[in-house]
Amino acid sequence: MRPCLFLDLDSLRAEDARVVADWVRLCNELEIAAILLSGRGSTRRGLSRVDIERLGARIDDAYYCPHDTAAACACRLPRHGLLVQAGLRWNVDTKHSILVGDPRTGAEPAAKLGLRFVSSADVTETSLMPAMAA
Ligand SMILES: [Zn+2]
Repeated sequence: MRPCLFLDLDSLRAEDARVVADWVRLCNELEIAAILLSGRGSTRRGLSRVDIERLGARIDDAYYCPHDTAAACACRLPRHGLLVQAGLRWNVDTKHSILVGDPRTGAEPAAKLGLRFVSSADVTETSLMPAMAA
């Protein structure tokens, strides 16, 4: 079982790159898997994997929904598809894992799957720590 940090990339802003990269570097040190979730095309508007990795942070895995936003697919938050895929691949220790996302789409699936939730509107140097320590 592995603790994971799930980042809903579509909920994160480009200007948060430095803080998010700091979080991911900390996870790298603590052997917490850093995993991105994203829908098709939406990464171009906000934060991208490259933005995080060029700041020296290692993303361990990434799961993309390939469907059009109009499609009512099961992958994207608030549905569980991508989280479940990642969970099976990484044998996620849900009690010690965190989802960072939009409260409107992420809070409910996080609660259902037993993950801690951190709002992407609250991206600060210290906002991840209470969730990690809890
Ligand atoms: Zn999909």
